[in-house]
Amino acid sequence: MAVIDQNKLDNFISVALGLKFCVSGLQDFILDTMETIHQNILQQIPVGFCNINCSRKYGNGFSQWCNICRSWKDELHKLCRYKKQWDKINWKEIDTIDFPHSTPDSYEAISKVFVRDVHQFRQGIYQDLGAITSLFMNMKTFSIDNHANIGRYSTTQKRQFCP
Ligand SMILES: [Zn+2]
Repeated sequence: MAVIDQNKLDNFISVALGLKFCVSGLQDFILDTMETIHQNILQQIPVGFCNINCSRKYGNGFSQWCNICRSWKDELHKLCRYKKQWDKINWKEIDTIDFPHSTPDSYEAISKVFVRDVHQFRQGIYQDLGAITSLFMNMKTFSIDNHANIGRYSTTQKRQFCP
């Protein structure tokens, strides 16, 4: 029987716990942000709900979508940072019927638009660090500076912070 290396095991557990706390710490931040986005969009588009789930039923056949689903799609398009991500969305994996409801499930349904290869996430996407990273990268709301190079940041340079 192989001897367990206690140091390696401790390291592994530390990293695993660190990631878990990192992901759970982001939940409230993401939900708050998505709630705000949701409210902003609601003010831009006609009031109403969908009862056929246009995305699942018609996929990319947008001309068949109802007015509500199309309005949501157009508003979310404005928030997408990369054309490549937008063009790759498989709308049959998204539930536009959930979009207009002001619930955490609705925020998650909207978030899926910005997550790459969303089909691979079985459980909630907010519990997956890869999905969260994808959301941050693809959604303009999260202003991640893709050119940031923290590792090379010289200690002699001072970062500018808001007052
Ligand atoms: Zn619809």
